[in-house]
Amino acid sequence: VSRITVENVTRRYGDVRAVDGVSLDVAHGDFLVLLGPSGCGKSTLLRMIAGLVPPSDGRVLVDGNDVTETPARDRDLAMVFQSYALYPHLTVERNIGFPLRARKQRKADIRRRVAEVADILDLAALLDRRPRELSGGQRQRVALGRALVRDPGAFLMDEPLSNLDAQLRTATRTEITELHRRLGRTFVYVTHDQVEAMTMATSVAVLNRGRLEQLGTPTEVYDAP
Ligand code: ADP
Ligand code: ADP
Repeated sequence: VSRITVENVTRRYGDVRAVDGVSLDVAHGDFLVLLGPSGCGKSTLLRMIAGLVPPSDGRVLVDGNDVTETPARDRDLAMVFQSYALYPHLTVERNIGFPLRARKQRKADIRRRVAEVADILDLAALLDRRPRELSGGQRQRVALGRALVRDPGAFLMDEPLSNLDAQLRTATRTEITELHRRLGRTFVYVTHDQVEAMTMATSVAVLNRGRLEQLGTPTEVYDAP
């Protein structure tokens, strides 16, 4: 189901409060954008939601369970990184199938699911290639595929378009928005780009110096004084 509840979460690094007392409730099917300038705490907040960084205070609940108490492979979440984080020595097929192999699913089932995902993301012709033989946009689609393959309840994305050129960025933005509509899953998406936030989000959380400054629909946030 993946309802995400962020309860008064703080993360300190030494004297820096990367995230400072943030509370948020993300309903199933929302597209929440975490928006703000570099260094405002977006990545740290996303990583806490993913369970990759433990909060100094507060907690993150996914469907009522503290994410840090759920074993990583049982979390109903998938993360997509800015840098793609693909395995360079593995083919597209094996990169996408990786999360299923790690969970010891049957080979035939993995092949079928990878084919489905490759179809959705227009990667079917590229399954035998390795990441270095792909364009930036194709790599990002493989990274999306690896997130999609487990059919998680929520997708967490950290500036997934920032390594793409302007034209590809617009096209991929549209693809991600369509993916959200099609899947009806929860998306939490980090960006410093206001246009991305306004065109993709169902709700926007504006962060400033670790604090939640505004929360609302794109129109509410955009029209705020
Ligand atoms: P954003 O994603 O908005 O650019 P970050 O969450 O990456 O912001 O960083 C927020 C603040 O926390 C910054 O001041 C950053 O330097 C600091 N920070 C983030 N991660 C670490 C870390 N692992 N160690 C020390 N400081 C960190
Ligand atoms: P981004 O803002 O694109 O997420 P960063 O360059 O801010 O990338 O951070 C990359 C990695 O470095 C992250 O794992 C983050 O936690 C860590 N990091 C960020 N700021 C600091 C810092 N001041 N000291 C140590 N690690 C940091």
